[in-house]
Amino acid sequence: MSRGAEVIVAGAGALGLNAALALADAGCSVSVWDPTDGPNASAVAAGMLAPVFEAALDAETAGDLDLLLAARNLWAGLAARAGIEVDRSGTAAVGSEAWLAEVRAGLTRLGLRGADLPRDTLEDLAPGVAPGLQAVLVREDWRLEPGPALRALRQAALAAGVVFRGEAARERGRVDWLVVATGAGQGLARAAPELARLSPIKGQILRFPDVTGGRVSLRGEGAYAVPATGGLAVGATMEPGVDDPRVDPVTLAPLVHAAGRLFPALDGATFAAAAGVRAATPDGLPMAGPSATPGVILAVGARRNGWLLAPLVAQVVTACVTGRDAGPYAVRLDPARFEERRIGEGAR
Ligand SMILES: Cc1cc2nc3c(=O)[nH]c(=O)nc-3n(C[C@H](O)[C@H](O)[C@H](O)COP(=O)(O)OP(=O)(O)OC[C@H]3O[C@@H](n4cnc5c(N)ncnc54)[C@H](O)[C@@H]3O)c2cc1C
Repeated sequence: MSRGAEVIVAGAGALGLNAALALADAGCSVSVWDPTDGPNASAVAAGMLAPVFEAALDAETAGDLDLLLAARNLWAGLAARAGIEVDRSGTAAVGSEAWLAEVRAGLTRLGLRGADLPRDTLEDLAPGVAPGLQAVLVREDWRLEPGPALRALRQAALAAGVVFRGEAARERGRVDWLVVATGAGQGLARAAPELARLSPIKGQILRFPDVTGGRVSLRGEGAYAVPATGGLAVGATMEPGVDDPRVDPVTLAPLVHAAGRLFPALDGATFAAAAGVRAATPDGLPMAGPSATPGVILAVGARRNGWLLAPLVAQVVTACVTGRDAGPYAVRLDPARFEERRIGEGAR
């Protein structure tokens, strides 16, 4: 489709706003529809842009370092474009010597090495970290603040001519394209049958307003801790199959304990909890690209890496509309990868 296509983006989370901005920058006439102004998964998230530790520590994305790094690399330009502050101080894996040996082995499998931190350097970077813990620092994993980033994306989109509508999208209607970026929502399943492939994964996160946490993000055994504006954020639970955005003290308890193991001062400290629902595909990567329904494009299913992957998803979505090259990762994100192939059909 040539420049000037009319596009509805359904969903104003990280994926929808990034797609809307990229489409507007490509010359499209874009409206973003979302019925809620309340917290979605994107607002609840920790905001880590963590290609290395996600590939090293999460089996689901162990083979995707190249793709995750490519997405992370797009953040440099996007941050400048939208006025988003990205913290590049790095992330330290923190734990027992035995666990760090596993972390180092994971990094070696990826052809990478972290920097072993002397204990006094760790204490300087993360004051109050539990005694006896050791650390390996990786500079490749960055972080942003989701709240300000959402606001900055919305501002940049508005300035680029994007129109916002406070209601749910129900169909493509008369526009050229409908981009479905509805997170775990299933309201557009008739327009985009591929949404049936998504499953929910609830995530809960803690915020300790009275604790700063230091200068780098930490990945520990059973929890991560990121120094955020409103205090230290500690996350996150992974609750597959649960589609409920309410805080639950029972399933939250192990995370509270893990927080205390990282920072003893957090034991008994005041915290606020929040929950969001991630949407996941069967292989852990998003669906970005054309639906089987003509005129419909998917931008969903980024699981626990929606912030990291958002600019890459936006690039693929925009290429679908403009007809430009979608880049080398589009095939791995193609929604059609989950459909059964007919005998004799070649590789896509
Ligand atoms: C606790 C937690 C921590 C996380 N930490 C990280 C992290 O550190 N780094 C990272 O990269 N990712 C993280 N994630 C994952 C990340 O938050 C998600 O992958 C990402 O936010 C998904 O963005 P989205 O735009 O697809 O969905 P959402 O943010 O859920 O947005 C979807 C939007 O669609 C709207 N919508 C639904 N139906 C309709 C409709 N019919 N019409 C219009 N609008 C509709 C909803 O109202 C919602 O606003 C975390 C998630 C959680 C829960």
